[in-house]
Amino acid sequence: MKTKECPSCAMEINSKDKICPICGYEFAEYSTAFKWIAILLIILFILYFIF
Ligand SMILES: [Zn+2]
Repeated sequence: MKTKECPSCAMEINSKDKICPICGYEFAEYSTAFKWIAILLIILFILYFIF
């Protein structure tokens, strides 16, 4: 079983869990996508200034 650490209570929980069964912390599903959008925007921002 893959586990992940809950950032709220620091307990190892099932990586498939969207909500921590111990403290009820909700894992944001969009965090990875949001990170890539942010990287893309930074790249576009840099390109805008180069050209
Ligand atoms: Zn928790």
